[in-house]
Amino acid sequence: MKYRSKGCHMNYLNDFLRQETPKHGKDMPGYYHRALFLSEVMLAVYFLASAVVLFPTAGNVFWVPVAFLVITVVIIAFLNDMSATENLICFSAMVVLWQAWFIHMFGWVTGGAIILVPILSLAYFNIYVSPMGKIACSLGLVVFRIASFAYSLRHVPVSALDSTTSLCFQAFHSVVSLAILSLNFILFSSSIQSSERLLILNNQELYKEAGTDPLTGLPNRRAILDVIDEYRNANPDASFAIAIADIDYFKKVNDTYGHNCGDYTLKELSRLFLTVGAGKYTVCRWGGEEFCFFMPGMNIDQAGRVMQDLNGAVKDMPLHFGDTDFSITITIGVEEYDFKSPTEAIVDRADRKLYMGKVHGRNQVVV
Ligand code: GH3
Ligand code: MG
Ligand code: MG
Repeated sequence: MKYRSKGCHMNYLNDFLRQETPKHGKDMPGYYHRALFLSEVMLAVYFLASAVVLFPTAGNVFWVPVAFLVITVVIIAFLNDMSATENLICFSAMVVLWQAWFIHMFGWVTGGAIILVPILSLAYFNIYVSPMGKIACSLGLVVFRIASFAYSLRHVPVSALDSTTSLCFQAFHSVVSLAILSLNFILFSSSIQSSERLLILNNQELYKEAGTDPLTGLPNRRAILDVIDEYRNANPDASFAIAIADIDYFKKVNDTYGHNCGDYTLKELSRLFLTVGAGKYTVCRWGGEEFCFFMPGMNIDQAGRVMQDLNGAVKDMPLHFGDTDFSITITIGVEEYDFKSPTEAIVDRADRKLYMGKVHGRNQVVV
């Protein structure tokens, strides 16, 4: 399993906080790229529809929506070569210009002002625009809306649209604005949801890694203490036993065959612990060449028998490292829960029994 330190995560965080605005659209987050692209495509469709509707009634200005359509297509074409903010500015400038022209030509009644609103959704979900920039964007749009309304009160529209065309524009403005808004909200909310899901999975992975010994893959001391705590909280009146095992003369393995051989031995031993007593205990690497076993629901006699079997299995385990065949033994101290002591005290007593086993010849189980 890959080992990642806390410092490494801090580096990721620092990199993220210091990240610069991507120079090109293709480097912006996928959801924002999609939001800009689809918003601009919808705007292009809107300009096309506007040109079609204006053609029979206002043929002399028919070229204006066509020009806006062409500019929109150009902006879409350069989406990958601009930064997210540059593209958003082009999008906003185009919508504002279009609205100004529209109100000047046909007056306020066609509801064109609503198509300013999607700009806000794109500005607010743009992670590269600062909070002040976002507030400035809102204020700018409010000022523009009030100013254009004031303008429409004082100036007679250049041309009046007939009721059918007017109705068409009412519908276009509502549909395009709400469609762009809905699309952006769907994209952003699903992006947030998937980020949250990833974060939860990452946290679970980190939690698992934090409780795992990187050499043997066994749970570490913290993880087994959590398991014991959970068991004790859920079953306050249940018995359990704890054993501490230590490899005999392990320093000799390191000194004689090398540190790598020592590591190999620890890994093989861990594998044996997981296979021999599967289901009977939870085992962890307590530290160095010491292991801790938690045996839920067992008294000292039952736990002693399980450890005796394990002791025999370790003695019989053949080890091969390079050209060397060797074997090891372990000494184990076992203690049971007395229905009052804290876990640390039980471990301590198991440890003292282990020490007795070391003093009295090693390769034994002391209950
Ligand atoms: P005893 O029978 O009294 O336990 O003798 P010992 O030599 O096993 O005792 P001691 O606790 O003095 O030595 C433990 C050794 O375990 C020392 C240390 O170098 C080694 N060790 C601890 N962790 C690791 C490890 O991750 N890899 C390797 N190769 N050796 C380790
Ligand atoms: Mg030892
Ligand atoms: Mg030791």
